[in-house]
Amino acid sequence: MSSHLSPDLASALTPGGKSNTLTGVSSLTSSRVLVVGLDCAAPDLVFDQFLPNLPTIRGLMARGTWGRLESTIPPITVPAWAAMMTGKDPGVLGFYGFRNRKDYSYDGLALVTSHSLREPTVWDLLSERDRPSVVVGVPPGYPAKPLSGCLISCFLTPPAATRPASYPADLLGELERRFGPYRFDVQDFRTEDKARVLREVHEMTVQRFTVARYLLESRPWEFAMVVDMGPDRLHHGFWKYFDPAHRRYQPGHPLGTAIPDYYRLVDAQLGELLAHVGDEINLLVLSDHGAKRMDGGICINEWLLREGLLRLRAPVTGITSFESAPVDWDRTVAWGEGGYYSRIFLNVKGREARGIVAPEDYERVRDDLTARLQALTDESGRPLRTLVYKPQVIYREVNGIAPDLIALFGDLHWRSVGTLGHGTVWVFENDTGPDDANHAMHGLYVLAGPNVPVGGRRDARWDQVTPTLCRLLEIPVPGGAQGDALISR
Ligand SMILES: [Zn+2]
Repeated sequence: MSSHLSPDLASALTPGGKSNTLTGVSSLTSSRVLVVGLDCAAPDLVFDQFLPNLPTIRGLMARGTWGRLESTIPPITVPAWAAMMTGKDPGVLGFYGFRNRKDYSYDGLALVTSHSLREPTVWDLLSERDRPSVVVGVPPGYPAKPLSGCLISCFLTPPAATRPASYPADLLGELERRFGPYRFDVQDFRTEDKARVLREVHEMTVQRFTVARYLLESRPWEFAMVVDMGPDRLHHGFWKYFDPAHRRYQPGHPLGTAIPDYYRLVDAQLGELLAHVGDEINLLVLSDHGAKRMDGGICINEWLLREGLLRLRAPVTGITSFESAPVDWDRTVAWGEGGYYSRIFLNVKGREARGIVAPEDYERVRDDLTARLQALTDESGRPLRTLVYKPQVIYREVNGIAPDLIALFGDLHWRSVGTLGHGTVWVFENDTGPDDANHAMHGLYVLAGPNVPVGGRRDARWDQVTPTLCRLLEIPVPGGAQGDALISR
């Protein structure tokens, strides 16, 4: 342990005086907290299928509490991680994906950055108290913002980053001298070059855990968090080889073991990390959402065309991005964005430059569109179970520019396709490259440590994460945070 710690911090880091782990009745002592974020790790895989081969996770479950973790609406990486680290829903945060409408113009979306996040994170709250954190890869983390401790930015870091990707700024260089070029993400993971993606996912995960071990040993910390994008990239690239229910499943394919093999790798890396930090830490293994097979895509703008709610000045030839389509805005009621879910926008008079929906008709049009979306079927006329949400109903506040409607197609077995020119509403290839999986509403958590009672299974929600971390770290829950802690005082 470093000798330059303050007396308070040094005593906080000294093991001893821990809670009774069987009853959970205790006065919590300051104990270190480590969060290992596995982006997209799926409870059905970890708890129901792979557990016999995951000894580290099994051991943590036996001495802690665990369950499915309901994600945010939408269950999308950037808002979900940010919501879990602040206790605020995506509406309060003001972002609804990793790209968001920057204003009411028609031309595009701006990328979320770390500066989009204005609510304090758990490590911001600790920084105010001069308590150090180690933060690696938590979205939205680029550019790296100062904190007490150190931080490496997230998967949204551009390949030739012009702004600091670490805090302190020279930390990334130190890591690269030791561990080689740092992998923020797997580039172009939607590809047919499966061998490259598999190799890079493994390299990224091993490097991420290696960097975490190094930082946890070489830096002072009370809170540490590392997020690995590996599970997400692997699910999108390899689900069809593994899940017999997938439309494109190929029995006996050599890549059929890619997903279970990878979870074994993660479990081994987690075990090694724990061996380094010891049992005297509270550990939370966490995912931001789950994963499920993708059955296909709903071409949202093709569908809006057929419904007469979107008009073009001329037909498009070939697959055409919505941005380059000749939209007749003077006759268009609504348009949509592609992605794991659909964001649907109304063309509102006085709000959009050429809006036609009168403000007094807004709710009626929105309700009518909701009913039509809910009635959507699959390609053979079977009901799709599409869920449609109004931001004003599901969020405490609606900041930034929210979609007018949020649609999750077919219980998230279907994604949203934004491009035009498909000549159909239903497609079975993703327009942004091969992709086998979609996000699922439930991720997972496993919580264990000296301040965590043995609690068995207890399903939870995203908004319980911040209060749980605050309780373990003995800091007040930030104002406006929702949800109850997973452990009682
Ligand atoms: Zn994610």
